[in-house]
Amino acid sequence: MTEYPSLIKSKLPKVGTTIFTVMSQLANETKAINLSQGFPDFESSDELINLVTQAMKKGLNQYAPMSGVLELREQISQKIENLHGAKYHPESEITITSGATQAIYTAIASTITEGDEVIIFTPAYDCYEPAIELNGGKTVFIQMHAPSYKIDWEDVKKMINQRTKMIIINTPHNPTATILKEKDMLALEKIVADTDIIVLSDEVYEHIVFDDKTHQSASKYPKLMERSFIVSSFGKTFHNTGWKIGYCVAPKNLMKEFRKAHQFIVFSVNTPMQYALAEYLKNENNYMSLNHFYQQKRDFFVDLIKGSKFEILPSKGTYFQLLNYKGISDEKDTDFAIRLTKEYGVASIPVSVFYQKNIDEKMLRFCFAKENETLLKAAEILNKVV
Ligand code: PMP
Ligand code: GLN
Repeated sequence: MTEYPSLIKSKLPKVGTTIFTVMSQLANETKAINLSQGFPDFESSDELINLVTQAMKKGLNQYAPMSGVLELREQISQKIENLHGAKYHPESEITITSGATQAIYTAIASTITEGDEVIIFTPAYDCYEPAIELNGGKTVFIQMHAPSYKIDWEDVKKMINQRTKMIIINTPHNPTATILKEKDMLALEKIVADTDIIVLSDEVYEHIVFDDKTHQSASKYPKLMERSFIVSSFGKTFHNTGWKIGYCVAPKNLMKEFRKAHQFIVFSVNTPMQYALAEYLKNENNYMSLNHFYQQKRDFFVDLIKGSKFEILPSKGTYFQLLNYKGISDEKDTDFAIRLTKEYGVASIPVSVFYQKNIDEKMLRFCFAKENETLLKAAEILNKVV
């Protein structure tokens, strides 16, 4: 077919295919163990799956309300109040989205206009920057570095100006597996006080925090809450990343704008799964047990590779583990990740791709949301890498 290059002036000229797709594809082609893209290799619960079937059989198969099934929004409201003491009104302050990705896109699309600056902390999850760019915003990058990946709040203060419209935080953090502490949240609260800066808090791993630490939701801090969009994803919490259901909570005035965009980006999200999730959320053990579940997986994996030549960084949350390979090779992390997949048979994600600049700290990200048997096989291989 004839192609007409002049038809398109790319709005995202620098963007290629996501690293998750690239590495998962390579893992499939080479039959490597796929610890790259973050998704469980075990099933979501039978109970939850049965609840979806029941909802479908009951005839709950037509459009859900634009903002989501009310029963689900009520359960989310209750959960946030129980955990963080924050009150979000189910009618006006909670919207069900097609995964956290759509929630993030919509929050940005509904508030960022030409020339607005948005601060993100790198290494950063990959969907923030394109969403900012597509909406005419300018991404301002603040770097965090291994091994602590701490945010330097003094740096943040310096980067703020009249054009700063949004700061995006993410805790627990993908890809570094760090978490924000109370003092980080207080520092942020202080910095944004008396400004018109919106906070977008990506909390998709809210229920995967280890070693008895507390998840620092923006909703815990009333002065942050009143200017924040908070997004989460059931895919992470209930082992069903393919269902693509998440949510956004925000004060009424922010949510009103969010919904103006949401109704034209997706209108509404699939109905039977929302009814099922509403029912499943009634038992808090279904999500409160997750910290322990994934901490066991982390410990299992880390114990197995203690004797390897990889340096093990602390994983404080998420289902990711960073491993440093500078004791093995000085190859670029993208090259090493490919070689590890092709030659050894374990796929991971090179962390440099989450930086804007070419920062290569010889770090790979491994997903441990896997059956112990998978982790065992992967560890056997990693122990042989010299
Ligand atoms: N934010 C972060 C930090 C993530 O890791 C992910 C996905 N893994 C998302 C957002 C997107 O979540 P979803 O799959 O629900 O769109
Ligand atoms: N969030 C997942 C990860 O970090 C991947 C999601 C995706 O493939 N877009 O691995």
